[in-house]
Amino acid sequence: MTRTINVLFLAAEADPFIKVGGLGDVSGALPRELRALSNDEIKLDVRLVLPHHPAVKAENLRPLELFSISRGETEVGVEAFETDLDGMPVYLIGGEPIRANGSVYSLDASKDADKYVFFSMAAMELPKHINWQPDVVHANDWHTALSLYINLANRWEAGAKHVAGVLTLHNMPFMGSDVSAILASYGVKLAQTDLPEWARVLPLPLGLWASDAIVAVSPGYAGEVLTEEFGCGLNEFMVLRRETLSGVLNGIDTVSFDPATDKALSVNYNIHTLKRRAENKELLQEKLGLARNPNIPLLGIISRMDVQKGVDLAFTALKNMKRIDFQAVILGTGDPKLEEAAQALQTLFPDKIKAELRFDAAFARQIYAGADMILMPSRYEPCGLAQMIAMRYGCVPVVRAVGGLKDTVIPNETGFIFEKAHHMSLVSAIKAAMKILPNREKWETLQRNGMARDFSWEASARKYLNLYRALVK
Ligand code: ADP
Repeated sequence: MTRTINVLFLAAEADPFIKVGGLGDVSGALPRELRALSNDEIKLDVRLVLPHHPAVKAENLRPLELFSISRGETEVGVEAFETDLDGMPVYLIGGEPIRANGSVYSLDASKDADKYVFFSMAAMELPKHINWQPDVVHANDWHTALSLYINLANRWEAGAKHVAGVLTLHNMPFMGSDVSAILASYGVKLAQTDLPEWARVLPLPLGLWASDAIVAVSPGYAGEVLTEEFGCGLNEFMVLRRETLSGVLNGIDTVSFDPATDKALSVNYNIHTLKRRAENKELLQEKLGLARNPNIPLLGIISRMDVQKGVDLAFTALKNMKRIDFQAVILGTGDPKLEEAAQALQTLFPDKIKAELRFDAAFARQIYAGADMILMPSRYEPCGLAQMIAMRYGCVPVVRAVGGLKDTVIPNETGFIFEKAHHMSLVSAIKAAMKILPNREKWETLQRNGMARDFSWEASARKYLNLYRALVK
């Protein structure tokens, strides 16, 4: 007999409805991958719930019957819609608190507090209105973490069904802001938790506390959140919860990110036709206005301009490579100071360095296909997708030994790794790579090793399936 596990998957964003960052990629891909694992023995009925942000793009929206949640003396209306994505039911939850501040994320998390508390409350009410009960609620990051706290509170009610809670941790430092007053306004009491005092009013810690399983987005990050360096003040609490903590790597969309078929490239290639990749390097050099020369090492940075990503270290490293023949392209947007620094670097080395300060998905693909190496000197990196995409395109990653970077790049086999978050450590790693680069045979071995790695979602989705199974046993 087929057994069914119902999973309500909650996220602030999911491709193709709305995508701001990596969370959108994950929430767009993982629920569908999970459903695809269904077989005669087990059926995974995963359903996605998203806020109906004003910028959401969705077709065939079918309104659900209006419902409301009580907030003191008033009732806040929940305008929910149903649609589907490759056969997966998707629910969009709208209402005044979601409309009120139009963006998905604000720089100041307190501006998003009302929206995500409302969303979490409404999402936990939703099953009653769709005649479907989850066995697992799977939340992601601080925005939806409170759903797990509410789920646990529901469980305390007499006769309530046991619904397991899973929280995937994509980025620990972002915990949300003090929501105690907002929760109180909805009549939700704060429990006595064993969290540090400052954390007892924040969505992410409350979600961690209430979850049955915590998943970090790489095994490396799962280890790091237990430490003082990366645990953001919750390390001792995480140590207490380590039995429920695991690490599952994110995957990449290997159909979309495939150099053999990628429409953004002028010249497609695969592991057997790697020599053709050289044409992409020349085209990239030409597009950037750099010397067309196959022998000059071409370095790429494709990243949010953020200190997390260590782009400042990369800039200082490049500045320190005055006497070395190289070219570099920086594609990214973000912190204005870092954007300025990238621009200044281009002014300093106009023949060597190009700063392209915009978000440009097609251009990113051309860089993955044309640059010799990609630099990722991250200060912390829960998983990281860019290094996986780079390897798939035969672009050799030079990364710091941290989080998911350490888990996905094999030193001197698929890329180059350095330990210290210091520009000179990065310079040494770049130099080590540059030493191999002229030896085409050795370099192609590195490229092929990376291209042969399997970064698809399937293996990761299976790990989540096993987790759900263990939780609903
Ligand atoms: P994070 O989610 O922390 O920003 P990841 O490495 O996990 O970093 O994912 C970043 C993704 O965004 C990668 O696919 C990368 O190629 C892409 N990206 C980052 N900056 C840009 C940009 N300016 N233009 C196009 N793509 C970008």
